[in-house]
Amino acid sequence: MRNARAWIAALAFAALPAAAQQDYSKVEIKTTKLGATTYMMEGAGGNLGLSIGEDAVFLIDDQFAPLTPKIEAAIAKITDKPVKFVLNTHWHFDHTGGNENLGKAGGIIVAHENVRKRLSAEGFIEFLGMKTPPSPKIALPMVTFTRDLTFHVNGDEVLVLYAPKAHTDGDAIVQFKKSNVIHTGDTFFNKMYPFIDTSSGGTADGMVRAADLVLRLADDDTKIIPGHGPLANKADLQAYRDMLADVSARVRRLVRQGRTLDQVVAAKPTAKYDEAWGKGFLTPEKFVAMLYGNMKP
Ligand SMILES: [Zn+2]
Repeated sequence: MRNARAWIAALAFAALPAAAQQDYSKVEIKTTKLGATTYMMEGAGGNLGLSIGEDAVFLIDDQFAPLTPKIEAAIAKITDKPVKFVLNTHWHFDHTGGNENLGKAGGIIVAHENVRKRLSAEGFIEFLGMKTPPSPKIALPMVTFTRDLTFHVNGDEVLVLYAPKAHTDGDAIVQFKKSNVIHTGDTFFNKMYPFIDTSSGGTADGMVRAADLVLRLADDDTKIIPGHGPLANKADLQAYRDMLADVSARVRRLVRQGRTLDQVVAAKPTAKYDEAWGKGFLTPEKFVAMLYGNMKP
């Protein structure tokens, strides 16, 4: 097991995004209008979702701290209102890095209670070998929820649903009911193998259940903002769900047969999906090693 762990760590290190070295000055925020009051914004880090209208600016996730002025500038092209609510889909650094700036600017940060717990202490993502310092108080969610929460803003009903043990132990899925837009947080990576943070309570089964939940909420016209990857529709999410359920079942079968990590990787349980899904954040080998780490007894 020590060897397997070392190997996973070595693979993970190679997968580490160059977050620290990233030159944020080159990042541009791209805004896509999804409905009368809803938008997707892409920069670096997790995709942003927004509701902007007569009441308030409601923002889902906030990427990295150096990008806050760029995100604010992109919002200022649409409205002169400041960000009133920031909903964190989970605690990861590429979704909450702007919390401190937006909290200082008067934004009210909202998240599942486990997000507040994790941001309050030193964080550690084992698969990435990455430690994050405790967040200052102003960056912590001021409002937390355990199961669900509804915002009534900008003529929309914004339903926030907890997806247990999915990408982490604090994932939120956000449905803009009137606009027919859903932000999945990192329970959905579109067109690439997803990352599951086992060390933060994430599980492959919970990821599949989260996808099933969104599939129940969505119809063929729903615009789905994934945590990472391009804007999606229900068919994209279905393909992702089926891929993840199939690969997970294959890896689980091999783990139950007592195969080692090397044997599981060598069995290539992702083979038929690699062309479509294997060119993103995780290579096929890293994705399988991650699932192995999630499922090994
Ligand atoms: Zn994440």
